[in-house]
Amino acid sequence: MLIGEIQTPVSDLHGAGKTTTEQLLRLNVTTIGSLLQLWPRLWEDRSRYNTLRDWNTFHKLNVPVTVTAHQWFGFGRMKTLKLMICDAEGSRAELICFNRPFLEKSFPEGAQALVYGSFSVKYGVLQSSAFDIEKPEHAERRILPVYPLTQGLSQTKLRKLIAQALDAYARGIDTELPAEVLEKYHLPDKKQILYAMHRPSSMQEAENARTALIFEEFFLYEAAVGMRSLERRGVLPKLNQPAHTTGQPVEKTALPAEAAMPPAERAAEPTDETQTLPTQDGTAPQTESPCGDPLPAAVAVEYSPMQQKLLSRLPFALTADQQTVTAEINADIDSTVPAARLIQGDVGSGKTLVAFFACLKVIEAGGQAALMAPTELLARQHADTAARLLEPLGVRLAFLTGNLKATGRSQLLHQLETGNIDLIIGTHALFSAQTRYKNLRMVIIDEQHRFGVLQRSAIIQKGIDSGKKAPHFLMMSATPIPRTLALSMFGDLDVSVIKTMPPGRKPVITYIAAQTKAEKVYHFIGQEILAGKQAYFVYPLIEDSDVMSLKSAEEMFAELSRDFPHHRLALLHSKVPEEEARSIMQEFRAGTIHILVATSVIEVGVDVPNATCMVIEHADRFGLSALHQLRGRIGRGSDQAYCFLLYGKNITETGKARLKAMSSTTDGFIIAEEDLKLRGPGDIGGTEQSGYCGFVLADPIRDFALLEQARAAAFEMLAARHGRSGISKIG
Ligand code: ADP
Ligand code: MG
Repeated sequence: MLIGEIQTPVSDLHGAGKTTTEQLLRLNVTTIGSLLQLWPRLWEDRSRYNTLRDWNTFHKLNVPVTVTAHQWFGFGRMKTLKLMICDAEGSRAELICFNRPFLEKSFPEGAQALVYGSFSVKYGVLQSSAFDIEKPEHAERRILPVYPLTQGLSQTKLRKLIAQALDAYARGIDTELPAEVLEKYHLPDKKQILYAMHRPSSMQEAENARTALIFEEFFLYEAAVGMRSLERRGVLPKLNQPAHTTGQPVEKTALPAEAAMPPAERAAEPTDETQTLPTQDGTAPQTESPCGDPLPAAVAVEYSPMQQKLLSRLPFALTADQQTVTAEINADIDSTVPAARLIQGDVGSGKTLVAFFACLKVIEAGGQAALMAPTELLARQHADTAARLLEPLGVRLAFLTGNLKATGRSQLLHQLETGNIDLIIGTHALFSAQTRYKNLRMVIIDEQHRFGVLQRSAIIQKGIDSGKKAPHFLMMSATPIPRTLALSMFGDLDVSVIKTMPPGRKPVITYIAAQTKAEKVYHFIGQEILAGKQAYFVYPLIEDSDVMSLKSAEEMFAELSRDFPHHRLALLHSKVPEEEARSIMQEFRAGTIHILVATSVIEVGVDVPNATCMVIEHADRFGLSALHQLRGRIGRGSDQAYCFLLYGKNITETGKARLKAMSSTTDGFIIAEEDLKLRGPGDIGGTEQSGYCGFVLADPIRDFALLEQARAAAFEMLAARHGRSGISKIG
């Protein structure tokens, strides 16, 4: 039986009554299977003894002592016991026994005891108030697991429950990984892992078990990636594809030939190379087709009839990269394998248009297309652009968000299901359970790089339900994705790059200024507005907060309204109702609103070319990629744009470094590289990134070496079972 299949409720264990069961539920533990997978956060090494002299060297000591005397201090109910102790070397210390008066009887004068705790010197005396104390005959030398806890549930209780479950169930548990993988990579089986995690005999054993679990998580994930790829195009992705695409030739990372090293050593291998993005050197992007052959340059794109029509209606020509990517997508659509493509292009490189070209090709073949944006603001903007560019071509367009009222909604859904809508644009509502398509052939996700393999499957299913075939899938992202993340999450996607910017763009001029210079900056903006331009003012908070003395959008809206009495201002943040936000954006686009005071809601996608100025106050409060995205809102036309980054007096060193990076380049790939350096891998990896991959212990950035190995192992297994190609062999 696999561990996840043990459905026996935890309440079957001795000592797991109603209260305990409820406490465990808060840790998402309901079954024995989930209890056994409540992995320790760390282990306490009580396998070695210390002396009291070591108090300053180790965080916690494990010392055999003799109780020399008892003392009491305080009065009445506050009366507290002090145990005076002495170790083998004659060093003395005091144990403050808050709420543990019973220790007086268990440890009388002269008693031997084993104490585990952290010590410090207070009032010239070495003491501890956070300690465990046991009679030496009860205390085995051992390594204790430390579990995540919840209110009311003690470490001791949890240890007992898990030990009980381990004794009763571990023996019958099977391993998820195939035997040949265990053997080749010298991995312990699941039983061994369980014992080593919950009851390790050495710290090394515990660490090895954790490494094996991380390997297992990656393996299962990569096996899913590989399976999807096999199902889709009948071949496995190349092991190191896709690399992030900085315009540099893809560097090949050699995989360890045979994994002879034990897992723990492998994990400790330096991963520097994978954590830094190579710098950009201006060479042409090397886009590779799935089979690794370089694609022909975009000399002649074969546009479909409707694409031709759109092209002739545009006031400009497509950039070279827009053409190349359109050609790549067209080729995907014409081939027998559905497209699955990540399109990376820096802010302002013109991804929306490429998306529309892709939609047209499936629409004229009788299919439906869905374009999903992360925010309502952006979805609305896309819908407006589509109305302008595509409706005149006869495309039947609809807009769907979670907020759409019931009557309009059911009508719209009906139209969608009967095939009277060609292109639907909206937020995640596009893929909710009620939304059904007649023949969904193209799914485009804009500005959303958090769609892992698993989320994608749900969407793809919509197409399979309607068209009996997986729809084409495009993901547009302005965030350069580090190689590590790209590998783990998008290992089955092809990658396209839009690197050339539309012609005539001037790089945004960026100034860094102290908050005290704000007046001067406002004056400059005033001049630009008089010259017919528009401006964004961006703040970290919506409204004033008691905790942080930062300017808020609301407060500054009032103040700026006084500063700019002759201009029209509007306030936009996430709490502004949809209808109002919509009309504000319309007016801003039309130029009747001159200044938009906002929070980071405008961060992604917003496109108003005449807005050439941006002031970001408390800029040091924003992350580097957020700053880059925000600044990407300006410099979208041919006029010179200006960005002012204002900082307060409490700016930190990394805050300074971020602003400096912003003023030294406008290149998104360089900024991403800098971001990675400044935040450190832990921050980027850690919770968020692991979280949306569904990993529990694994962290794709920290554990990159393991990820690559697990990927190799998973693909090797798939290749052995299904052949390097040949979808027919999959049952
Ligand atoms: P992003 O890649 O950030 O999503 P958009 O699709 O919003 O960029 O495009 C940015 C701006 O550039 C839009 O105003 C769009 O109309 C314009 N644009 C797109 N392609 C071209 C082009 N080939 N020539 C000139 N302007 C273009
Ligand atoms: Mg965009």
